[in-house]
Amino acid sequence: MKVLVINCGSSSLKYQLIDSDTEQALAVGICERIGLDVSYLKHTPAGQDKITIETKMENHEVAIKMVLDALTDEKYGVIKSLDEISAVGHRVVHGGEKFASSTIIDDEVVKAIEECNDLAPLHNPANLIGIRACQSLMKGVPMVAVFDTAFHQTMPPKAYLYGLPHEYYDNYKIRKYGFHGTSHSYVSKRAAEFCGLDLENSKIIVNHLGNGASITAVLNGKSIDTSMGFTPLAGLVMGTRSGDIDPSIIEYISKKENKNIDEIMNLLNKQSGVWGMSNVSSDFRDLNAAMDSGNELAITAFEVFVYRVAKYIGGYVAAMNGVDAIAFTAGVGENDWKVREMVCEYLGYLGVTIDKEKNMARGEEIMLTAPDSKVKVCIIPTNEELAIARETVALL
Ligand code: AMP
Repeated sequence: MKVLVINCGSSSLKYQLIDSDTEQALAVGICERIGLDVSYLKHTPAGQDKITIETKMENHEVAIKMVLDALTDEKYGVIKSLDEISAVGHRVVHGGEKFASSTIIDDEVVKAIEECNDLAPLHNPANLIGIRACQSLMKGVPMVAVFDTAFHQTMPPKAYLYGLPHEYYDNYKIRKYGFHGTSHSYVSKRAAEFCGLDLENSKIIVNHLGNGASITAVLNGKSIDTSMGFTPLAGLVMGTRSGDIDPSIIEYISKKENKNIDEIMNLLNKQSGVWGMSNVSSDFRDLNAAMDSGNELAITAFEVFVYRVAKYIGGYVAAMNGVDAIAFTAGVGENDWKVREMVCEYLGYLGVTIDKEKNMARGEEIMLTAPDSKVKVCIIPTNEELAIARETVALL
């Protein structure tokens, strides 16, 4: 069957039409600058060139209408009629404690997602707009919500509670939620298969290193700890996000620079990470180029990034009392050999030695350690859209 996967942001909407029998994407695309003066639809039918349509999309409903038109277009469409779409899978960022798994969307679910808006004010409202727009344009087509947080709902309280007075958890549900769950779930399952492990009896660490980055300890197929927290700002140093810092720094900067809380949160979310540290870029390709030309700040930012990754891995080896496999995924994890090499240099105590030639691979599933290595290290490309399509099919 054909599943439309929708990932709706505040001004953008990514989509893929996936044939669940072949697990191939028939078309992928993105609507950008929704609600602004000029918007774009970039649509790529499988095996063909990308087409870009410049237009005005007043809102997400208009954007989804354009996507549906593109999918059924005579020239660059991939289906004859919308009846061919059997279901829609929606990425939803925050499911709070209500959703420990994906769910079929009905009015109650929409209301429950709405109740999580406070926890992800930038993302959940946009996800809901996408759901409502699809509901109004594709009446009767079943829809499924797949949550970024759901996979981490198996974390025990010792992993998800912060050292705050308990009433903050009771009253406001302040706790670690974790994100990138769809990717961590997909990659851990695939890593187990690829490494010949029984998922139900395995210790796997997934390094999802992209522009946003997080690491998860997956014990017997379940997330038991992860580096992002109450929000996706916690944990690793990322492209533009600071990751873990001493919370007192917030007060200190506020006083020194007379900044309010919104300005400081903007600083931590958008102007920090390897970008802020290096003054070069949030993109590791630019960072690598700057390092090659001897840029000291870029070298230090890279070292800080890698060191933090290595420390989280070490923490999760302790949390699981061992590790069988360590997987690298997402933009940086799949493509940046230097990150993988430098992280693995810290893992000598686990007996990890990677094959430096194999480590030059990019974006492909590959084992980096020798076949007899006790701890296996591999690259597993993530595919969140396929994971959402699979969940959607499974639920229907
Ligand atoms: P993602 O968020 O998973 O899409 O990852 C995006 C990030 O991957 C970019 O910002 C880059 O930092 C990184 N990336 C993509 N391609 C490469 C590459 N060839 N080498 C190093 N980093 C890359």
